[in-house]
Amino acid sequence: MGAPAGPHRPGGRPLSTDQGTDLRADCTRCAALCCVVPAFSRGADFAISKRAETPCPNLAADDRCGVHDRLRPLGFPGCVVYDCFGAGQHTTQVLFPGLDRRDAGQLHQVATVFPVVRALHELRWLLTAARALDLPADLRAEVADADERVAALTRRTPEELRGLSVDAERAAVNPLLTRASTHARRSVRRPRDLRGADLAGATLAGADLRGASLRGAVLLGADLRRADLRLADVTGADTRGADLSGADLRGTLFLTGAQLEAARGDAGTRLGSDVVRPAHWVRPA
Ligand code: SF4
Repeated sequence: MGAPAGPHRPGGRPLSTDQGTDLRADCTRCAALCCVVPAFSRGADFAISKRAETPCPNLAADDRCGVHDRLRPLGFPGCVVYDCFGAGQHTTQVLFPGLDRRDAGQLHQVATVFPVVRALHELRWLLTAARALDLPADLRAEVADADERVAALTRRTPEELRGLSVDAERAAVNPLLTRASTHARRSVRRPRDLRGADLAGATLAGADLRGASLRGAVLLGADLRRADLRLADVTGADTRGADLSGADLRGTLFLTGAQLEAARGDAGTRLGSDVVRPAHWVRPA
C-alpha cells in the first residue's frame, strides 16, 4: 500500500492535507529512524545501497540530512517521497522514550517495531481522510470506531506490536474504506473501475477519470496531463513519474503528499486548497 518506501530527513515536511498532527511526520521529534532502520538498494530511487539498521552516510551528526536540498539531483528521489505518517516521532517519543539509536541493541528493538507502527499510522491517515468525507451517520460511526481501534493498537507495548499482523489489520480496514469511497463517489455516473490496473506508461492525457477507482493502480510514468481526477480514489496508487501537469485533482480521494511528490506536475495542476503543491513542480528538480 502507498508510494515507494524510502527514507526522508528534511527536518519537517507538511503532508498534503491538514490531518491530525500525530499523523504528520515531525523529524525534529524523531531520531532519524527512516535514514537508519530500512535497507535500500542503489537504483532509480536511491543513489547508493545501504544495509538495514545502519545510518545513511549522508546523515549528519545532528541527525539531519546533509544533502536535503539536493536529494533529487543527487539521485535520492526515494527519500523525498517517503512519509512515515508520524510513526517516527511516535516510535521515538512514546514507545522508546530515551532511545539512543546509536546503541545497536536498542536500534534493533526499534527496527522490529517501526515498520508496524508506520503501517498502522498509514491506516489511520486513510481512516482520518475517510472521516472527513460526506458519509451517512452509520458509516461515519463505523469509520470513527475503526480509527479509534487502530489508534489504540499504536499505544500497545513494543512486544505486543511486534506480534501484530499488519496484513490482518489492513484486511479489516480496507472494506470499510472501500465503502466510504463508493459512497463519496456516488454522484459520478458509471465511474471507471481501474483497481489494480497496470497503467504504467499509459496515455491518459485529458482522460475523464472522475470518480474512478484507481486503488492500487500502477500509474508509473503515465501521461495524465489535463486528466480529470476529481473524486477518483487513488489509495495506494503508484504515481512515480506520472505527469499530472494541468490535471484536476480537486477532491481526489486518499491522495497523499508522497504520491504528489513522486509525480510530476506544474503550476496548472489543480489541487484542493489544503493540498501542498510539491516544490519541484514549479522549479527544476
Ligand atoms: S540521503 Fe538524506 S534523507 Fe536520504 S537516507 Fe540519507 S540522510 Fe536520509
